[in-house]
Amino acid sequence: MDEVLKGPFGEAWLRKYPRRYVLEAVREGIDRTRRLILEGESPDLSIEAIAPDIGLIAEHLSSLSLIPLINATGIVIHTNLGRAALSERAIENIRNTASSYSNLEYDLASGKRGKRYSHLKRLLREVTGAEDGIAVNNNAGAVLLCLSAFSRGKEAIVSRGELVEIGGSFRIPDVMAQSGAVLREVGATNKTHLYDYENAINENTALILKVHRSNYRVTGFAEDVPVSALSGLAGKHSIPVMHDLGSGCLIDLKPYGIHDEPTVGEALREGADIVTFSGDKLLGGPQAGIIVGKKEYIERVQKNPLLRALRIDKLTLSALEATLMEYIDEEKAKIRIPVLRMLLEEPERIKARAKKIADGIRRHVKAEAIEVLEDFSQAGGGALPGVNLRTFVVSIKSKGLAPNKMEERLRLGRPPVIGRIKEERFLLDARTVQDEEVKTLIGCLRAALL
Ligand SMILES: *Cc1c(COP(=O)(O)O)cnc(C)c1O
Repeated sequence: MDEVLKGPFGEAWLRKYPRRYVLEAVREGIDRTRRLILEGESPDLSIEAIAPDIGLIAEHLSSLSLIPLINATGIVIHTNLGRAALSERAIENIRNTASSYSNLEYDLASGKRGKRYSHLKRLLREVTGAEDGIAVNNNAGAVLLCLSAFSRGKEAIVSRGELVEIGGSFRIPDVMAQSGAVLREVGATNKTHLYDYENAINENTALILKVHRSNYRVTGFAEDVPVSALSGLAGKHSIPVMHDLGSGCLIDLKPYGIHDEPTVGEALREGADIVTFSGDKLLGGPQAGIIVGKKEYIERVQKNPLLRALRIDKLTLSALEATLMEYIDEEKAKIRIPVLRMLLEEPERIKARAKKIADGIRRHVKAEAIEVLEDFSQAGGGALPGVNLRTFVVSIKSKGLAPNKMEERLRLGRPPVIGRIKEERFLLDARTVQDEEVKTLIGCLRAALL
């Protein structure tokens, strides 16, 4: 052992890997050789012969678990794959604030203690048109916090058509129970009328909650009550209307043919007193839950003790502020924020990228057919359900390698590549592959499909 560690191999490993893992790897390497001898074989006992094995073990032990990968599924806001990739400026701002002290809770003008939430106030007002705003850990937290602040021990009215479950066990009725609010369900699954809400209001009612049906649609014999009508009713009884928008889009997607995603500004103008939404869905920022609305209600949220438990950390805050700043110039935001860029990219440009990938692997991999085909991608993240985005995919078909084998090899490669299987073909959707990743992706494909 000592001999190995003091030799040139040992020195190189100790420079590269933690000492504990090098020791473990050397021990395991020697053990393996010993086992071979016991099994009656006569392995090469030189360090040169054992070293590659030891190096691999040390490398494996020292590798991190959370690693970047290439998303070729075409699903832009893929919760399992980390949702939104951040803009350059957001990343730069994390770097800046992470590497030194900052004025996180310090008011530079007065030289006194400040509030971490003050950094977002101006931008949230400007990009949403709200009176005030605040951000917490995630949108599930934002909803929990608001329900606790407005309706703890009281009733909150929700339509039965909006008792949603979002992937990863976020269920409106369960969150309401946790917040201490009493759920008052009204209407039917497919239809809820204004009078349903009206009949449910009593002296114990503290809130009317509207929830955006993020990940599904109700079509056919269906009806729900718009926030504008709820707002009129709630106003008469002096209770607030809260709209959980889920995804929370800041730019108008109608010019792109997407009509049923209200912007945060629209939700507020329609009459919602409080609007909650995610930082890492359509907004394209870090994981966060944003609450905007009337000043008096944001103040009530600020006084709730849960806020401290759900508070946003400084790195997230720096990424969120930089992301919101991008929205001050919407045209630039559509290019600089990866989620928006991927969602709104011209199909012809996606096709060009798909062609580049296909050309890069043709003649280099064993496959009968490598084609660029038209297909559809999804926004994901519970945003824009039922909206099909025209896209182009690289389709790979090989007699010698079944699509599920292909999928497995690419998934286990480094970096991993995640695609999808459709009708005996392996598909790579070029929408979610970033330009800078094309070269790496071609390398991964060549290595996996040899
Ligand atoms: C996604 C979503 C949530 C949860 O947001 P997270 O940021 O994932 O915590 C809550 N409500 C709705 C309607 C959603 O779509």
